Amino acid sequence: MTPSVHKNHTLVLVVDDDLVIQMQLRYAMQKEGYQVLVANDGKAALSIYIESNPDLILLDAMMPVMDGFSCCAQLQELNANIPILMITGLNDQNSVDKAFAVGAADYITKPIHWAVLRQRVRRLLQMHWVMKELQSRIEKEQLIAKITQKIRQSLNLEIILSTTVIEVRKLLKTDRVIVYRFLPEGNGYVIVESVAPEWQPMLGKVFEDTYFSDKCTYNYQQGNIYTIDDIDNAGLSQCHIDLLTELQARANLVVPIERENNVWGLLVAYECSRPRKWDKLDIELLIQLADQLVMAIQQAELYQKLEIANQKLQQLASIDSLTEIPNRRSFDEVLEREWNRLEREKAPLSLILCDIDFFKNYNDTYGHPAGDKCLKEVAQVLNQVIQRSGDLAARYGGEEFALILPNTDATGAVYIAETILLQIRSQNLIHESSKISSYLTLSLGVATIIPQATSSLTWLIAKADEALYRAKETGRNRYCIHQ
Ligand code: GH3
Ligand code: MG
Ligand code: MG
Repeated sequence: MTPSVHKNHTLVLVVDDDLVIQMQLRYAMQKEGYQVLVANDGKAALSIYIESNPDLILLDAMMPVMDGFSCCAQLQELNANIPILMITGLNDQNSVDKAFAVGAADYITKPIHWAVLRQRVRRLLQMHWVMKELQSRIEKEQLIAKITQKIRQSLNLEIILSTTVIEVRKLLKTDRVIVYRFLPEGNGYVIVESVAPEWQPMLGKVFEDTYFSDKCTYNYQQGNIYTIDDIDNAGLSQCHIDLLTELQARANLVVPIERENNVWGLLVAYECSRPRKWDKLDIELLIQLADQLVMAIQQAELYQKLEIANQKLQQLASIDSLTEIPNRRSFDEVLEREWNRLEREKAPLSLILCDIDFFKNYNDTYGHPAGDKCLKEVAQVLNQVIQRSGDLAARYGGEEFALILPNTDATGAVYIAETILLQIRSQNLIHESSKISSYLTLSLGVATIIPQATSSLTWLIAKADEALYRAKETGRNRYCIHQ
């Protein structure tokens, strides 16, 4: 980039206590097309530097209040990344060395040779712009690398989008950066935002689809980059101006985030306080980041699908396919978990094992499919009998079921056992070949324990099983309790 590109925007600070030379310098610089500020000594130069951030300083060496050497040294301390051309009446080696030592980029001697001055100024500015552009490219590439890495490391889209808007705002030194997400209905909302504290946050704000129809603003479906340097001079429609005013914007840069020929959303940078001429690098940066975001979105969506598939698989692995209640595997997991928890809590755990009476006869009489249907009905009854969220009714195997009842003592377990017998009976499931009733019945074994280290899960199951065996032995259609 050559200085001529920037001429109109180039600000030169002339610092000299000799008012005639100061005026000559100002005239020479203005003739070159630069804008000029002046100061009479080093101290005044420092304040102007801080306030106006010029592009180059022409600095007299010998001045009252603060000389050029001290001023130059202080600018170094401020980390001023600005070329300083020292103007000195002294041509001795010492002064030249001193000027470079305190950070001057070059020097000329008085009387000023104007043609030389012009060339030196041009060269310094040229170098300055090249360095600045290089610096800016490096920073932008570093940011893209950072975001790319973030995408590789994280599957969390929210985090990726938030990092992007925060970093972009920092780098562009702008007031607001958002990602706007389109919804299928055509409207949309601000999904993430980074905004300077003095501006009103817009996070979560919903915009109606009329804002984004081509009548009002710009047809984002075309997928083009869209820049406005100054809303007052961009020939915008009134409703577009209204929208940008609502967003407190004076200038904006919009890049669509496109997925599979659809505009998923927009990455937008806003300048709120003043107009802004967006440069090529700003636009390039946003385009590259929007591409990265598309990758992150795809990745996050895939991950989400995988999560759902995993959940389904998990569910399939823990549910009995015939009765659709938890299977033996769930039973084992839950019983162990509850045992450990209640051991810590020193609270009771009850187990009820249920076995259908004369179920072999049932199958033989009505056929296997009818037997399956009957198992489903029994499972439903058991599932309805348990009330607490921690309770579990599972298919234990074949025509056996098991109920885990945490924080339930023997009295509570007996109450559940009685309810099961009553509920099964109330279903009026005919069982002609049962030797004890015309209806389907269950036998139940109940065991209760406060889990402790000296006992075990296996012991509890064995006790419930023993009780169940007794229920069968003593006539079926009943419950027995482990004594
Ligand atoms: P008891 O009163 O002593 O429990 O007699 P029972 O006939 O119920 O006991 P047994 O253990 O002799 O028979 C269990 C029957 O349960 C045998 C088997 O065919 C049946 N069964 C096990 N799993 C299924 C299943 O998934 N579907 C069907 N329809 N029947 C099953
Ligand atoms: Mg059995
Ligand atoms: Mg049986």
